[in-house]
Amino acid sequence: MPDAEAPAPGPRLRQETVVVTAGRPPAEPGQPLNQPIVAASSFHAGGTIEYAREAAPTTAALEDAIGALEHGHAVVFSSGMGAANAMMDLVPMGAAVVAPSAAYTGVAVRLRELSALGRITLRIVDADDTSAVVDACAGAHLLWLESPTNPLMQVADLPSCIAGAHASGALVLVDNTFATPLLQQPLDLGADVVLHSLTKALSGHSDVLLGALVARDPGLAEAIRIRRVLLGAAPGAFDCFLALRGIRTLAVRVERAQHNAREITGRLSGHPAVERVRYPGFGTMAAIDVAGGAAAADAVSAAVRVWIHATSLGGVESLLERRRRWPLESSTVPEGLVRLSFGIESLEDLWEDLDAALRSSLG
Ligand SMILES: *Cc1c(COP(=O)(O)O)cnc(C)c1O
Repeated sequence: MPDAEAPAPGPRLRQETVVVTAGRPPAEPGQPLNQPIVAASSFHAGGTIEYAREAAPTTAALEDAIGALEHGHAVVFSSGMGAANAMMDLVPMGAAVVAPSAAYTGVAVRLRELSALGRITLRIVDADDTSAVVDACAGAHLLWLESPTNPLMQVADLPSCIAGAHASGALVLVDNTFATPLLQQPLDLGADVVLHSLTKALSGHSDVLLGALVARDPGLAEAIRIRRVLLGAAPGAFDCFLALRGIRTLAVRVERAQHNAREITGRLSGHPAVERVRYPGFGTMAAIDVAGGAAAADAVSAAVRVWIHATSLGGVESLLERRRRWPLESSTVPEGLVRLSFGIESLEDLWEDLDAALRSSLG
């Protein structure tokens, strides 16, 4: 019998509201507004939560919020790579995985390792070459996409790639870290699983390492949760609290950082020290090919005062780095490419600082 007192489901709330409302305790007298940090590894037997590697209250609140934002069932991991490895662990022995030529370095290296071990068969494609992506999916188990890609900022035609992969019977994972669930919702475009490094924009303050997988199908979400239990990449309660707190301001942070990104990439095109600006027109990430290659790009990194020379992305502070300083970065990434993660500082301060650093690199 339906519960006569259950409220009728309302219209789906907009993402700017969901970031504020999702993952809160029940709205009842005396309940806290925020999910508390529950520091416990074990729980009295007989309830729905027994051991924190399987489930825990603060983690569950964060999973509710991410699931609500991506329209699926979320499982949170101790890092984005923890989440990525859980998904790789679900690939059957020897099965084919299709992945982009320039993907997040850790993912690309791990897939190559698994391929070298004979654990999977790896098929590398360019994410923005839709027919190559679709052709490579024939007989594959999993299509692993990133869009925009890190750090070349290539944009995949997600609906066409997803439809093509499904026609071949392949599962589709989309790493949505760069776009965030505010600007792109891959499950709504047909993808089966979304990956997030929560370390980045969702947490937003460069103070935690966390990751998540979000599946549309509850059975797949359960299989993913069991991977977390057995592989052990479970998150801590304090980190989950920080991530949930960060998500509350995601919409205003992305709006402001995207405004900075759009305006500054516009001013950079035609800059004498910049050969190429890579910005897909949306989002908070960009890359520039500095004229003069690696040495000039290193000079820019050393000269900035407001921008911070550091790896990672998605925080309130603007970060830049020359990606090829990492030995494992893909050789398809130009030596002089500097990745820009736009923060929420004053647009003019960011511009003056970057412009001065670029001009100093001209010598
Ligand atoms: C950082 C990142 C990851 C890995 O996440 P960690 O939290 O650092 O383990 C995966 N994909 C993308 C696109 C990333 O930027």
